[in-house]
Amino acid sequence: MIEDAGARVVFDRHCFGAIPGREVIELTDDEDALPQIVRHYMNTSECARYIADNKVQQRRDTADRLAKEFRADGIIYEQMKYCDFWGFERALVSHIMSEEYGWPILSIDRLYNAKGSGQLRTRFQAFVESLEIKKIHKAKGGK
Ligand code: SF4
Repeated sequence: MIEDAGARVVFDRHCFGAIPGREVIELTDDEDALPQIVRHYMNTSECARYIADNKVQQRRDTADRLAKEFRADGIIYEQMKYCDFWGFERALVSHIMSEEYGWPILSIDRLYNAKGSGQLRTRFQAFVESLEIKKIHKAKGGK
């Protein structure tokens, strides 16, 4: 739906997205595989139920780092409906990523299967248009 609106998704950092979900886990022979895998997931998980300060900061920094690495124009914060952890986080972090990190942000919550949502489609289109307008202004030397 996002790409239908004219955008290109360059990375997917969701709690269950491609990053960190499909990263290579480097195992050593020094220890059983299971604790190494468990440690990896505990350290890299982006699940919003981890509310220690360092994990909250990690999620913000990861989004910022990946957006820079993939040269994104903006970030979409999506929350699965009924995940209260993401609900709390999304409201605050959408504001912080915009005000403190300077990213254009679209903040949405959605059902697991939201393919037919006209409201979401409209919001994606509006976000893509706002990014395009920003680019035009930038190219003309404005902000
Ligand atoms: S609890 Fe919420 S944030 Fe954590 S994995 Fe599930 S949907 Fe994602």
